[in-house]
Amino acid sequence: MDKYEILKKYFGYDSLREGQEELIDSILQGKDVLGIMPTGAGKSLCYQIPALMFSGITLVISPLISLMIDQVKALNQAGIHAAYINSSLTENQIVKALENAKRGQYKIIYVAPERLETSSFLDFASVADISMVTVDEAHCISQWGQDFRPSYVKIVQFVSLLQKRPVISAFTATATEGVKEDILCILKLKEPQVLVTGFDRKNLFFKVISMRSSKQKDQTMLEYIRQHDQESGIIYCATRKNVEVVWELLQSEGMAVAKYHAGLTNEERKQNQEDFIYDVKSLIVATNAFGMGIDKSNVRYVLHYNMPQSLENYYQEAGRAGRDGESAECILLYSPQDVMINRFLLENKSAPAVSMEDLALLQENDEIRLQKMNYYCVTKDCLRQYILNYFGEHQMGRCENCGNCLAEYEEKDITDICKDIIRCIQETRQRYGINVIVDTLLGRNKAKIRTLGLETLKTYGIRKGEKESFLKTIIDELQLEKYILPTQDKYMILKLSQSCNEILNGEEQFFIKVNKEAEELQTKGDNGRSKRKSDILTSKGLELFEILRKIRSQLAKEEGMPPYIICSDKTLTDMCIKLPFNKEEMLNVSGIGENKYQKYGESFIEAIKNYMGGEKISLCYENVLQESEQGILERKKGRKEEFRVTPEMEENISFSEKGTISDLVNQLNDLRDEKSMKKITGKYIFEKLVEEEYAKEEFINGFQQKKVTEKGMAAGIFNDIRISQAGNEYSVLMYNQEAQRMVVKKLKEEWLM
Ligand code: ADP
Repeated sequence: MDKYEILKKYFGYDSLREGQEELIDSILQGKDVLGIMPTGAGKSLCYQIPALMFSGITLVISPLISLMIDQVKALNQAGIHAAYINSSLTENQIVKALENAKRGQYKIIYVAPERLETSSFLDFASVADISMVTVDEAHCISQWGQDFRPSYVKIVQFVSLLQKRPVISAFTATATEGVKEDILCILKLKEPQVLVTGFDRKNLFFKVISMRSSKQKDQTMLEYIRQHDQESGIIYCATRKNVEVVWELLQSEGMAVAKYHAGLTNEERKQNQEDFIYDVKSLIVATNAFGMGIDKSNVRYVLHYNMPQSLENYYQEAGRAGRDGESAECILLYSPQDVMINRFLLENKSAPAVSMEDLALLQENDEIRLQKMNYYCVTKDCLRQYILNYFGEHQMGRCENCGNCLAEYEEKDITDICKDIIRCIQETRQRYGINVIVDTLLGRNKAKIRTLGLETLKTYGIRKGEKESFLKTIIDELQLEKYILPTQDKYMILKLSQSCNEILNGEEQFFIKVNKEAEELQTKGDNGRSKRKSDILTSKGLELFEILRKIRSQLAKEEGMPPYIICSDKTLTDMCIKLPFNKEEMLNVSGIGENKYQKYGESFIEAIKNYMGGEKISLCYENVLQESEQGILERKKGRKEEFRVTPEMEENISFSEKGTISDLVNQLNDLRDEKSMKKITGKYIFEKLVEEEYAKEEFINGFQQKKVTEKGMAAGIFNDIRISQAGNEYSVLMYNQEAQRMVVKKLKEEWLM
């Protein structure tokens, strides 16, 4: 059988996804591979298909028992002989499993890394025909990853003891450069094919909602859960105490909810996890102790009650939603106190056994990660873009499918407030953090302010009456735009970058986006681009889906198997669309292979036939299925279109002899129809110029400065040296007429297309 025949027969799929084919082909040619793909991308098939085509056994090294059990159950369901060997088995069972393995009974064997060092396993491995060793969750090999497992480091030693060197394939969802280098180097991969697919999880909708009190958080959360009744969801909290409080609240509202944290007994944890996985309870409230190794594919939302410590954590936890590829939502309820909670947790976490220097470095990294996580919560830019940029994937353009892209913002000119903030930081000689600066601006009569003698400053009380949270948001924005550079330690003292002069001297205006609607819980609803099953199926279709879901639960109960192992939500939805009445049609449903058909196909067919009364009338909105760009445009009616240069605008631009980019941007924005078109920003243009190497950003004496390149000079851009009010020299980028024309032309013809 070739790879496609295997894909169809065992897994019930017709085509391979991005990256899968390349990895499978490389493995089949005997090459080592490293596949870095996001959760839900389909890493398992990349090694499972070759494993079935190789003559010998494939050993899969996996860090978690629950993960192995799930994988083996799913393979057995698909009619593939697989087994696991780990501490959940008794010694006798292990001996038996190894004997079976020696006789060649299994094509795929999952083992925990610690097992590789035991003599019984080494005995088996020395005589077995091992074609491939697969290292799953390969980031566990790196000290710099979050889940370091020392026994992963010994894998290479195990491989060297084998009679012949097998193919080594490694997989992970962690993309950072350090971790990747560690995997390649420690595993000693030979001329590997390294494949990194995009990290974007298109089916996930991201949103941050800022909250001022825990009461408001509770209300928002309850409302959200009620709106998503029947759907499976995870609620993450930062501490055990929060888990308990939230769990009690949901219980008291009569919701079917489980809880999970390290303070519970092993039995309690196991039971609660199973209640969730087997859909006995649709919700689970948990700390970050929950989730590693949870393969439940039909989690429809992940709600964070607190902000996590890093975007790595957030993307991993939020990424547990929608593993089946169906739409799912990731909502973060943010309050500024979350930063304090996390800092406390980080300071009190047990230190790893490393040198003092390394420890200081690790702590600094923790702090930087926390800051970047905090920026995610306050940015008004596209959230998906922010995440992808963080993981090193530079992608321009907004996603139009996250809370920020879909929100209606109003732009407010806050240049004057920014000037006051900058002056206050200057007056206090760049020695304090955000709280002192804000207290000074608000003119607070606090002991600390008096002790420091700040009540005599010119900026003391200059912003009296302004909201504290608003000033803090502006400072966050100034940090995001790198006008303010906080020190990278826990004190986070606010330092000014040289570009602040551009604001002080009126060359740069600063705008902030303010949400027009009150901060209400507005999730994707109809606005998003990815489709939920309720967009696709009519009400009758949804009714059939519920019937099929119940049958799946019943089958799962009979087999002692989680429902999502029987089949995914996506497969059930496909049944409601294709309405299979016979074997051939059922095998056409995505996710139904030969084995699954033999076991469950007829139960589903019978239910579908019954429901339809033998007649096939489509239960899906065809127009939604073939959603056209037009459809999307119509749904967005009432929204402002992106900025573009219209012919009328172009006619009316007056190009000056020389000017700054702000001059040009202001003109362009004034010329547009502000009711129907969004603004263009200087930042966007500058980023494009850097991308095309007309300009660059340099750190000089710890300050970030904008510089022209040779290519830029040739195009008519130049650095103008000026003296700031404080008497310091700084440079501004100026554009001659030709350069201004070039920018407009590029906006029109290339950058905004
Ligand atoms: P990962 O390990 O990368 O997180 P999985 O291997 O668990 O992802 O796959 C996620 C889901 O995608 C599973 O339900 C799997 O059956 C499904 N899947 C994988 N490959 C394909 C494919 N080629 N076509 C359709 N579904 C697929």
